Amino acid sequence: MTATDAIVIGGGIHGCCTALHLALRGLRTIVLEKNTVGRHASGVNAGGVRQLMRHQAEVPLSIAAMDAWERLDDLLGPDLARNCEFIGSVGQIGIAESEAEMEWCHARVTQMRSLGHEFEEVIDARELRRLVPAAADICRGGIISRRDGHANPFRTTQSFRLRAEQLGVRFMERTRVTGLEQGDRCWTVVTESGVFRADILINCGGAWAWQVAEMIGEHLPRTHFASTLMVTSRMPHFIDPVVIGIDRVLSFKQTEAGTVVIGGGVLGDPDLNSETADTVADRMVVSAQTVCEFFPILRRATIVRSWAGLEALMPDVIPVIGPSQVARNLWHAFGFSGHGFQLGPIVGSVIADLVATGESAIPIAAFNPGRFSSNDMLGTTCIPDRKVSQEAGHE
Ligand SMILES: Cc1cc2nc3c(=O)[nH]c(=O)nc-3n(C[C@H](O)[C@H](O)[C@H](O)COP(=O)(O)OP(=O)(O)OC[C@H]3O[C@@H](n4cnc5c(N)ncnc54)[C@H](O)[C@@H]3O)c2cc1C
Repeated sequence: MTATDAIVIGGGIHGCCTALHLALRGLRTIVLEKNTVGRHASGVNAGGVRQLMRHQAEVPLSIAAMDAWERLDDLLGPDLARNCEFIGSVGQIGIAESEAEMEWCHARVTQMRSLGHEFEEVIDARELRRLVPAAADICRGGIISRRDGHANPFRTTQSFRLRAEQLGVRFMERTRVTGLEQGDRCWTVVTESGVFRADILINCGGAWAWQVAEMIGEHLPRTHFASTLMVTSRMPHFIDPVVIGIDRVLSFKQTEAGTVVIGGGVLGDPDLNSETADTVADRMVVSAQTVCEFFPILRRATIVRSWAGLEALMPDVIPVIGPSQVARNLWHAFGFSGHGFQLGPIVGSVIADLVATGESAIPIAAFNPGRFSSNDMLGTTCIPDRKVSQEAGHE
């Protein structure tokens, strides 16, 4: 039996960051990961670091996350910060192809300004072409967040892990949590590799987090989905910003190495039990056609690999961050619905604040686990409808 102060279930970006922040507050912490650290969504995502077009409830958290991305040196030290390959302030642009999309951009920016947020701007076709000369003539302009950028997801997750380890956190890989029990004084955590005890438990289980909650009789949405990506061989540099679609399923960025990562919400087939997600050829064709329509330069690109990753999807497309509704000393942080990588450097700090003080300086009421009261929000759907998938797929 191993005893410690805190156990984090799940070694994705949020589990690693949470462990790091708990260690910074002096808590002895263990991360239990059923596969390997970064094996699921956190290691295979598109690396988009985006404030643009976020759900209103996520905006304060997303702004705080962007501050943290820009100060990775402070959190990780210069070497591990560099390892994340974060490139900020290249901007993310939602490209409008129709008049209706341009009108949507204007309405969105007006609404954001009325809420005090200045970071989104409408751009016309001329400014779009200045920033993205490779855009096709069908592109009329769009909406931009100039502070946004991208990073390397696998390396970022590993950097958070390594920093946490430097601070004394123990990572146990291939250690699946199969049972939880709360005694008078502490949690007993049963795994395939032994039993652990801790005062505090954090559920960062990603697409499987609902299973962890069910171990203590707490029912949370089970919905999950598979986002897909494909990557080209190296191309001559042609774009700096990350571009995404507004109504169209489009998203891509060019890495420092020259490869182009293409995604944008096309769905794969998820299998939660076998812990795999597959791409589906005819859907990937749609993604390729769309990206070529917007960027003719990609017509001659060579696709070298495609893949999919599993992610939890909440009915309202925003995460669950907060205390369990049924047990003491258990907090949840999951359900990032396709856009949780950008929030990676901040959610762990929010959880550590909740553990230490019961409060968060960043508003998180909208993420309360108790908001899913009706049964229709607790279904097991695995393919979201088109509207939700587009929202979730804005990378
Ligand atoms: C293809 C794709 C592209 C994406 N692109 C972007 C993007 O560009 N920008 C963006 O912001 N977001 C993006 N996302 C979303 C982002 O990747 C996720 O929101 C984020 O990584 C979620 O992190 P996590 O730590 O919650 O989950 P995960 O990375 O899934 O980690 C959860 C971990 O918990 C472990 N676990 C679960 N149950 C147990 C158990 N019982 N015992 C032990 N371990 C357990 C799992 O094995 C897993 O490793 C994308 C996602 C995908 C799939």
